[in-house]
Parts: sequence; structure tokens; C-alpha cells
Amino acid sequence: MTAFHDMTVAALAADLRAKKVSAAEVAQHFLARSQADTSGAFLSFNPEATMAQAKEADAQLAAGTAGALAGVPMAHKDIFVTSDFPTTAGSKMLAGYRSPFDATVVRKLGVQAGGAGMVNVGKLNCDEFAMGSSNENSAYRPVTNPWDTSRVPGGSSGGSSAAVAARLVPAATGTDTGGSIRQPASFCGITGIKPTYGRASRYGMIAYASSLDQAGPMARTAEDCALMLSAICGPDLDRDSTSLDVPAENFARDLNASLDGLRIGIPKEFFGEGLAPGVRAAVDAALKEYVKLGAKLVPISLPRTELSIPVYYIIAPAEASSNLSRFDGVKFGHRTKDYTDLVSMYKRSRAEGFGEEVKRRIMTGAYVLSHGYYDAYYLQAQKIRRMIADDFQQAFQVCDVIAGPVAPSVAWKLGEKTDDPVANYLADIFTLPASLAGLPGLSVPAGFGEEGMPVGLQLIGNYFKEAQLLNAAHRLQQATDFHLRQPGGTP
Ligand code: GLN
Repeated sequence: MTAFHDMTVAALAADLRAKKVSAAEVAQHFLARSQADTSGAFLSFNPEATMAQAKEADAQLAAGTAGALAGVPMAHKDIFVTSDFPTTAGSKMLAGYRSPFDATVVRKLGVQAGGAGMVNVGKLNCDEFAMGSSNENSAYRPVTNPWDTSRVPGGSSGGSSAAVAARLVPAATGTDTGGSIRQPASFCGITGIKPTYGRASRYGMIAYASSLDQAGPMARTAEDCALMLSAICGPDLDRDSTSLDVPAENFARDLNASLDGLRIGIPKEFFGEGLAPGVRAAVDAALKEYVKLGAKLVPISLPRTELSIPVYYIIAPAEASSNLSRFDGVKFGHRTKDYTDLVSMYKRSRAEGFGEEVKRRIMTGAYVLSHGYYDAYYLQAQKIRRMIADDFQQAFQVCDVIAGPVAPSVAWKLGEKTDDPVANYLADIFTLPASLAGLPGLSVPAGFGEEGMPVGLQLIGNYFKEAQLLNAAHRLQQATDFHLRQPGGTP
């Protein structure tokens, strides 16, 4: 029999439904595996809560009331609030914080009535408040990449990508503000999708940049991502003011559709100087596969690709500086022991609770929003953001999906960019445009590049075209085996 950890979400769900296995024994297996992990992927466990959820899933399976993914284990990025596990957002500011409620995404995936029935194994490490591209901004510890433990797993959902790649859990949640699902998926050789902005509720997702933050699944296959995304999405109008009133969909419905005649736009700006040759070769080979599957490659241009970096690194910090004002030691967060008056308490609490990158962004954000600079930076960035979104609509006149690399390089070495924040920002160049436009995007394993490290192919779709993206990713996975390869050295 195949080991549980070698099975997909789809296969585990089928065996659980057929009662070949129980949710309790499956949960036990993944819990033991995850607790033995040394990569740093997990920040917390609560074995009693995990086993209680598994028992509940078994009861629902027995009663015939179970959700579509009942009993399948997963783990949540520690940016989603959970009532039965601590939530830290990777920050000392929230050490020991316990939310009184579950995030909507947690509730929809979980064993509560109406949920998909998945069992939460634990909370996954991430960059502090999801700010970063390597997981090294976690206040707790970095995470190592299972393909090469001297390298980063990507970020900010680095715990999620490392845990799925090492088969500690079959799937995880991530959040993507400027690439944090797609880039770690690419760096760890797994699949991850960020839906259209507004499709997944942000309620209970600790806010970084509210106009960009979106939740999504990370798993080994496109099919598993489709199954989870179908559970995650849907209106949450009473709780999230930017939630879209668009019904949930079965995103797996078109997985096997033919790609004959699919027009894939190839933005020339994604293939310029600075793209590592090994990444380029893997992406080119994947595109050739698509041609074999009947797709046509169409040259396109996204002329403001480079501008997406300054635009994002104005808008995201601006929103962060506002969102993070609630962590003042009174409303939320760490409170200093050592203060004289109210202002000194605020100052010291925030100085002690936040890490360096978070402080950098709060200061940048406060600066670009301040009187006298607002027009020059923030307003200007908003205008260019609109133009970036328009460029995509121009491109979608001549193509159905857009393809290119996720990142300019494979996963870098731990410590390589820690002293150079701008080097980290520049590496986001290919994921930021879709984020700024609010478009859905995914990363699908496309091969291996420099030093044998995984390379992801990015597919970007027009609004609400998640099913089409997952179809394209699934067909590539039927023609290739990159998503089935396992990092050497993992048990
Ligand atoms: N690397 C980007 C940042 O640091 C994106 C992070 C994210 O998507 N959460 O802002």
C-alpha cells in the first residue's frame, strides 16, 4: 500500500470516503511526521485539537454528512487565525496570541458544519506579517528548503511550501500579497494558486496589504489545489468588505479539458536580462510541452512590468503602516514591561515586538502617506497600478492565459540576501504585476534549473479564470512528472 504521505489530497479523500482508512489513523501519521520535522516549517502543534478534528471527520464520514475532503490532513499558514491553535503571523508581537474565532478560510476548509472536513495538523512558519520572499523574516526561525537545506524555501509562505514538498502534509494554505503563494511553490517544486482578488475571504487573515492580500491552496498537484480552492472561495459579504459576491465554483470541473487552440501570451518583459539560464530553459521546455498539447504561443508585452516593483513597494507598505497600527500593546500584541507613560509604552512595545523588515515597511508606508509626499508617491503609484491592470486587459485581447517564470532565479542560499532588502524586492518582479492587477495566478512545477533546484512556471489568467488556469496546469502535470519528484533525503 502507498504510504499516506505519498498520496494526494484527492486519493486520501477517496480512501477516507470509502472507509478504507480512518481520519484518525491518517491524522496520527501526518502528525508524527510533522512533529519529527527539523526544517522549521511548523511553528505550533496541538495534537489534542488535531485528533479531535479527525474524530469529528470520522463521525461525519460515518453519518454521511462529511464534506468533500473530510479527514484529509492539511496545515495553515500562521497568518490565519485559529481558535484551537496559537496564531503569531511569524511575529514576536503576537507570541502566545489565541484568537477567539477561526478565519473564514479555516472554517470553510475545516470540520465545522458546512466545511470541507479537512484536519489541521498545525500552524506553518512564515515571514513576519507575510513580509518577505525567503521566510528569513520569521521572528522564530528560518525554514530550510527540502531540496537543499542550505537554501531558502521562498516566502512568505515558506513553511507551507517546505511542508508540502517534504510531504509532512498533503496540502497547506498560503497567502499571496505580491507572490507569497506562487514564489515559494516555485522554489519548492509544488503547485500553488492565488485566486482573483476578492474571491477568498480575508476575514481572520492577519492583514498585511488589504488591497492585495489573497488566500489560496498549496499542494503537489493542480487537481488538489482545485479541490481546496473550491472549498476556500465564495462570498463572505458580512465579514469582509472586499469579498466579491460571486458564487463558489467547482474549480476541478475543467481539469481535463483540451488545450487545443489555447492562446498562451508570452510577455517579452518576463524573458529579459536577469533571468537565470536554468530557469529560462525549464520555462521554455514547459512552453514546448504546451505547444505539443495544442496550445499556441502568442508574443505579448506588459510594458510596465519593471514599474510594478516601485509601485508595489509604495502601496503595500502604505497599507501595512495602517494595518499594523493595531499592534500597540493595548489593542493587540506584545506590551513592554518597561515604560513611564502611554507614549513610551506604545513606542517600546512596538520597538520590541516588531522585527527589522516590518519596521522598515511601517516607516516607508508612513512616509509615502505623509502630507507633502502623498501626491508624489502614493497617488502616483495608484495611477500606475491602474495602468498595469489595463496592460493586462490589453494583453488578454490576444491571448487566453499568460505564461512566464515565477521568479528570476531558483531558491537562493540562506543568508545570501538578508543584508540587502532591495535585492529581495527585485526578485518579486514577475509575481507583483498580477497581484497589483488583482488577477489569478499559479505556479506549476516546470522542471529544474541551477543546482538542480525546482523551477515553477507561472500562469496568469483573466479575472475569474481560475478553472482555466488549473486546467492548463493539470494537463501539464499529465504530460510531465516534475510534481511527482521527491526531494532527496526526505524520508
Ligand atoms: N515578497 C513580497 C513582500 O515582501 C510578497 C510577500 C507576500 O506576497 N506576502 O511584500
